[in-house]
Amino acid sequence: MIYDVIIIGGGVTGCSIARTLSKYNIKVCLLEKEGEVASGTTKANSGVVHAGYASPREYIKRYLCIKGNKLYTQAAQELNFPFKRTGSFVVALEDNQIKILEKERKKGTEDGIPELDLLFDKKQIKKMEPNLTDDVVGVLHAPTAGLVSPYELTFALAENAAINGVKFFRNHEVVRIKHEDYIFTVRTYKGEFQGRNLINAAGLYAAKISKMLGLDYFSIMPRKGEYILFDRNALQLNKVLFPIATKVSKGILVCPTLHGNTFVGPNAQNITDPEDISTTTAGLKEILEGGRKLIPNLPARSSIRSFAGLRAVPDTYDFIIDNTDVYGFINVAGILSPGLTATFAIAEKVVEFLELLGLELKIKEDYNPNRPKPERFKDFTKEELDKKIREDPAWGRIICRCETIPEKEIINAIHAPVGANTVDGVKFRCRPGMGRCQGGFCRPRVIEILSRELNKSYEEITKKGEDTNILVGKTKDFILKSERRGVSEE
Ligand SMILES: Cc1cc2nc3c(=O)[nH]c(=O)nc-3n(C[C@H](O)[C@H](O)[C@H](O)COP(=O)(O)OP(=O)(O)OC[C@H]3O[C@@H](n4cnc5c(N)ncnc54)[C@H](O)[C@@H]3O)c2cc1C
Repeated sequence: MIYDVIIIGGGVTGCSIARTLSKYNIKVCLLEKEGEVASGTTKANSGVVHAGYASPREYIKRYLCIKGNKLYTQAAQELNFPFKRTGSFVVALEDNQIKILEKERKKGTEDGIPELDLLFDKKQIKKMEPNLTDDVVGVLHAPTAGLVSPYELTFALAENAAINGVKFFRNHEVVRIKHEDYIFTVRTYKGEFQGRNLINAAGLYAAKISKMLGLDYFSIMPRKGEYILFDRNALQLNKVLFPIATKVSKGILVCPTLHGNTFVGPNAQNITDPEDISTTTAGLKEILEGGRKLIPNLPARSSIRSFAGLRAVPDTYDFIIDNTDVYGFINVAGILSPGLTATFAIAEKVVEFLELLGLELKIKEDYNPNRPKPERFKDFTKEELDKKIREDPAWGRIICRCETIPEKEIINAIHAPVGANTVDGVKFRCRPGMGRCQGGFCRPRVIEILSRELNKSYEEITKKGEDTNILVGKTKDFILKSERRGVSEE
């Protein structure tokens, strides 16, 4: 089969493009190297839907961010992912910073960002955010900024794309691409795919993919950002809190999450290894100190996890969304922040390029833009829950006690379109392992459920895809084998 469009990369960018294209009467597939979609940068970032004032005017990312922010309202209604317009504050701590905020507000308002406001009344500011430092002298308030769960958004996009006909191939790392007679032949370790158009949304590896077609006009540098996540209810915040931005990033922010936690981060460290997501003592110290400038009572002892994400920083510092010299090949590269915010606008831009390339895009008669909200134990009333448990006792078997996740939610996550097939896939879809014990108790049960539902042995179940197997065999089998070979247990 020859696809009309092949997408490389199943982050939020690739999945958003896939979902947008699934509206049309064309054949589309997506190739992702990891065992799950949302395994790259999309998995670890701040999850802020920015208002859009932060990027300089000479960059397209500014305008795609402003547009993308607006597109979230309809997308969240259709796709039912966790999203809330909490609003954000950029916090000035010194009088001379006020003029920076005034400039941002003026330019932002001129560029179509609604409701940007400067607040100077400390009493009013502290009423809106009681834990904010007393040193605040003013804030830029952006009520349209918000929070999204980036991976739940991406799973929703993939699910909806899949029910509308897009084929997803996970564990398919693209290793070679040929372009002959206007057909791309894309090789992965598991097979070959042919398509008339090819979209490169490979994140940190986008320059490598582009080079496979001889296009070497940009480079991508990984820039690490570390975070600390605090236990649920350790601190109550209402807004996304930014300091005044630095030259390289929006600075260390303090932020609530949609699941009731708080986090602080990220810092910004240029590195060379696109797989290095380690955290360091120095980095964690840096972000705690940074966060305390905004929230002095950050509850360091309630930290439940540290993690890091990698920005794919292009040498242009702007999104690279290009119809390239290779006919039918579109680079969607260097999608650094605010790529999550801009994602729906980026997908629309790609559709414009495909139309320019002559792809006929007719809306399918049976296109369904909606993805039902996954059923959650926590959302049911007691009566609804009783009924659910009577119908299926798996609703009453709690697997993750920290997050109150029953077996049925895990089963549903596994059998959803483009469903979970790894432990992390389950964790990021319905949260077992996200709580205080970080999977200490529920992980073996999750492995058991994955094994049963996917009809695989325990040893075949992986943390996050190939070569991340968790169990290697049964302890007793090893002992028996050793005894048969005459080896003592010591
Ligand atoms: C620290 C940090 C904070 C951020 N905060 C925000 C924020 O608050 N708001 C915001 O709007 N944006 C934010 N961003 C930016 C946002 O996270 C990114 O713009 C977005 O996640 C990029 O998604 P992507 O799909 O382009 O890349 P990725 O998510 O990295 O997806 C690329 C995919 O391609 C796959 N791939 C790579 N090579 C191959 C291959 N050879 N074959 C097949 N598949 C391949 C990868 O496995 C990966 O899944 C932040 C980023 C970071 C790192």
